[in-house]
Amino acid sequence: MSRELEEEKVFKDPVHHSVFVQDPTVWKLINTPEFQRLRRIRQLGTSYLTFHGAEHSRFSHSLGVYEITRKIISQFERNGFVEWPQEERLVSLCAALLHDVGHGPFSHSLEQVFGTDHEKWTCDIILGDTEVNRVLREAQEGLPERISSVICKTYERPIVVSLVSSQMDADRMDYLLRDSYFTGVHYGAFDLGRILRVLRPYKGNIVVKESGMHAVEAYLMSRYQMYWQVYFHPVTRSSEIVLRSIFKRARALHDSGYKFGFLLPPLRSLFDGTLTVREYLELDEAMVQTAFGQWKHEQDPILSDLCRRFLNRDLYKYIPMASRDESWLAELRDEWRRIGLDPDYYLEVDTPTDLPYDVYKPETKQGGEDKPPILLLDDKGGLTEISAKSEIIRSIAGLQRGKYHVYYPEDRVREQARKLSPLTRERLYL
Ligand code: CA
Repeated sequence: MSRELEEEKVFKDPVHHSVFVQDPTVWKLINTPEFQRLRRIRQLGTSYLTFHGAEHSRFSHSLGVYEITRKIISQFERNGFVEWPQEERLVSLCAALLHDVGHGPFSHSLEQVFGTDHEKWTCDIILGDTEVNRVLREAQEGLPERISSVICKTYERPIVVSLVSSQMDADRMDYLLRDSYFTGVHYGAFDLGRILRVLRPYKGNIVVKESGMHAVEAYLMSRYQMYWQVYFHPVTRSSEIVLRSIFKRARALHDSGYKFGFLLPPLRSLFDGTLTVREYLELDEAMVQTAFGQWKHEQDPILSDLCRRFLNRDLYKYIPMASRDESWLAELRDEWRRIGLDPDYYLEVDTPTDLPYDVYKPETKQGGEDKPPILLLDDKGGLTEISAKSEIIRSIAGLQRGKYHVYYPEDRVREQARKLSPLTRERLYL
């Protein structure tokens, strides 16, 4: 097997300008059906209903994460940093490319309803009977196992894990820039080139040269901005709630023996909890949206109404709630039933804290999901956690000022406003 492609391959990319592939294994992985499937899964799920430009795919993001990783490694190698283990190049590039290969359609919403886990699917795809697995095995004995352990964060060399998964990893740097570009929310921009120049391999980890602190501040500010402007956007949350209600309803119908006019085998297995890797790989957003188009005509009035809402972007209205008022919510559920609305599908209280994003947490906890902090490296080889030196970062670290919102179909509630209690009418501005 040749060590490099005869001629390097180049993908045009709006964020990185170009993505360069020199390694034949990476090139073969890109051309597997499992990786090509990512073209049919949007990076930001339902966000396109809020920001119409947000149609970019997990395919483009995955190439971007690969490209950032490649640039970081090249910088280490060009500068001859001996702390970078050069034999880890291929594992790192493949892990970066494949880290999202297990994402399904509208991943986050689906995971909430069906309890699936994209990280587990990623490892199942890398280790299972797939093209990806064959390409990796042919390249190097044990490569699939090494890559899946990088993705599970159990790999023996933490520096490789931190390239793909840390507080300042290739994954986050790519999605912030890419999501900013495609949503048109420009506060999300930061100087990637500068950050790539100040990263250093040090004591088995990746740290930042102290002079690069301001570039990292801009990166964390971008995270802060994107968090509030894009990822927590209440209209996006509303579309996720309608989407989750569709899947909750479809599964409940399926469980009760309802005969669907249209139900493709992978969706049936999803409802039954019997999905195989092969079936999982058939799921994509085109299939899900085709199902919604068909379910719009189902006999069940709730399912057809929810599908119509999602496809026509007739989403739920939201009102803020200072805190979770359980007694009012219980009453609201009763009132919903009284006006003929099933609160299991037409009422949702949402708090942003259950989203998989955070701005920055300086404290390190071992074992949990928390990732090591960003460390600054000074001239004398000393390390300092970044918020100890930066006031800007101190002020945004650990911020979680999530707001509660109540979501509901305003049209249906307004029709029946007379039957609601005075308190509810007042709170819902009816
Ligand atoms: Ca990712």
